Amino acid sequence: MNSLLIATQNIGKIKEFEKLLHPVFSCLRPDHRAPAVLEDGKTYQENALKKAQGFFDVYQAPVLSDDSGLEIDVLGGAPGIYSARFGSEEFSWPERFDYLYRQLSNSPPESWLARFRCVLCYYDGHQEPQFFEGICEGRIEVRPLGQGGFGYDPLFYSLELQKGLGVASEEEKALVSHRSRAVSAFLSWVRSHPHMLT
Ligand code: IMP
Repeated sequence: MNSLLIATQNIGKIKEFEKLLHPVFSCLRPDHRAPAVLEDGKTYQENALKKAQGFFDVYQAPVLSDDSGLEIDVLGGAPGIYSARFGSEEFSWPERFDYLYRQLSNSPPESWLARFRCVLCYYDGHQEPQFFEGICEGRIEVRPLGQGGFGYDPLFYSLELQKGLGVASEEEKALVSHRSRAVSAFLSWVRSHPHMLT
């Protein structure tokens, strides 16, 4: 099986990637050599590229990176690329959830439409970096629900599942998630480039 280094330290993302890429790729988890990549890009694409190149420089192996975020319409698309550090980098997730609800307090819950977006970057040092995008549409729950997933999942209600991601099973999340859709696009591209699977 071909292997791919997953360019993230986020264990929630790594576990999802391992399932989504199996059995086409086996995933290599970063070790102590993982570089600290400064995510100062202006777009998901710029940040994903920085992560892919940063990890490739250290490992010299094919890399798949992702940059993702939660976009809330009434907040003008925030937190977006700043999702991981929304409010403060020091916040715990419950503190970040409280902060987010304070930002939403002037608008009615019916208007809390939102989506997760994921941009993947594949980079192997030979060909141009390739980008793949996936979106998951939904809205923000009136209060956090469930313990499933990671990050903002307990706040996110999936319109397609008609269920919150915090209470959905891993399999259910994989049916609709931004990350699984971006991975599907990546795998379609891989299948149309047979040299990728030698
Ligand atoms: P980054 O891509 O490492 O910059 O982080 C993206 C941020 O969005 C992190 O705080 C994640 O927790 C959050 N995020 C990305 N994907 C998901 C998801 O599938 N569920 C919940 N939160 C997510």
